Amino acid sequence: MSEDFYDVLGVSRDASEDEIQEAYREKATQYHPDVSDDPNAEEKFKRVKKAKEVLTDEEKRQAYDQMGHDRFEQAEKRGGFDGGRGGAGAGQGNPFGGAGGGMGGGMGDIFEQFFGGGGQRGGSRPRQGADLRTTMTIDLEEAYHGAEKQVTVRRPERCDTCNGEGHPPGTDARTCPECNGQGQVTQVQQTPFGRVQQSRTCPRCEGQGELYEETCSDCGGDGVVQREATLSVEVPAGIQDGQTLQMDGEGAPGENGGPNGDMLIEVSVRDHPEFERDGADLHHRAAVSFPQAVFGDTVEIPTVDGSVEMDVPAGTQSGETFRLQGKGMPHLRRRGHGDLYVKAQVVTPESLNDDQREALEAFAEAGGEEVDVEQGFFEKIKNSF
Ligand SMILES: [Zn+2]
Ligand SMILES: [Zn+2]
Repeated sequence: MSEDFYDVLGVSRDASEDEIQEAYREKATQYHPDVSDDPNAEEKFKRVKKAKEVLTDEEKRQAYDQMGHDRFEQAEKRGGFDGGRGGAGAGQGNPFGGAGGGMGGGMGDIFEQFFGGGGQRGGSRPRQGADLRTTMTIDLEEAYHGAEKQVTVRRPERCDTCNGEGHPPGTDARTCPECNGQGQVTQVQQTPFGRVQQSRTCPRCEGQGELYEETCSDCGGDGVVQREATLSVEVPAGIQDGQTLQMDGEGAPGENGGPNGDMLIEVSVRDHPEFERDGADLHHRAAVSFPQAVFGDTVEIPTVDGSVEMDVPAGTQSGETFRLQGKGMPHLRRRGHGDLYVKAQVVTPESLNDDQREALEAFAEAGGEEVDVEQGFFEKIKNSF
């Protein structure tokens, strides 16, 4: 069979890796021997899998594109993937223009270049490191102005001693006997629906295809150590409680030269005694005395950024709300601020001195109100027993 891998997956030659993965998932589901009643399902499934394997490996795809389907297949049969020197002599039209040069410039060198030679494949594909999460608490003032904060995290980092290799530099390697250097082991299972072949990463060499005589004592062979790191986090003005900041590349280290993951920092903003926040708007309660509410006055109102003066008009009712435009929180990553809503709370005095009492009695009398000020309500109850 020599069907082109791109045709097998039904993607164009310039398809992205995502498109290829997507197409693969679709086809694999369609032809999976467990679900398909197509008699050739197993063969087709293998074909789809093979096509995906080649086209999602950057180096193999490049080789495939340059060699074309048939020559790629031949090369593979001759053992190119396992690093064998297939003996496809020079002079077949080296696609790379004299790799190796001279007598030795045969296909073997190209295979080594592409496929790593020596049986290194399987788990050696670059993989992005995991994203890590942490939390950070800031004050409302910091959310208002923006801040540079330090956050300390414990995270996996590449082991310096072995450079992430898991073994001391210069240690001899041997081919993994479990997978013969393939990095993958294949299991065939008998199911009620037929034989299902499953490949998984070799547990012995963890996909590396080789084993080392010595492991790094600092990381125990993982190539990764847990370490404390202090990160400087740029907190943007206007950030809200529960939002997440992303620091690219500060997550777990990538594998086989892949990029690091990211650090995701969930921000919580502490409650503030003076303000309640609603998005970019703030709410504040301001105590206003009875005479201030009656006559009107100018009162000082706190904002997150210093205090401002606000006019309380004559005749203000308790609970009346005033809007101070632009005195709220800044909008995140755009210009302008929300508003500050000030709710007037007219304070009823809890105790009066003699002068105040007299004045209020006179006030009531002048308004024609009959208030039994000599004897309060509780006094009357007390006296009735
Ligand atoms: Zn192995
Ligand atoms: Zn190490």
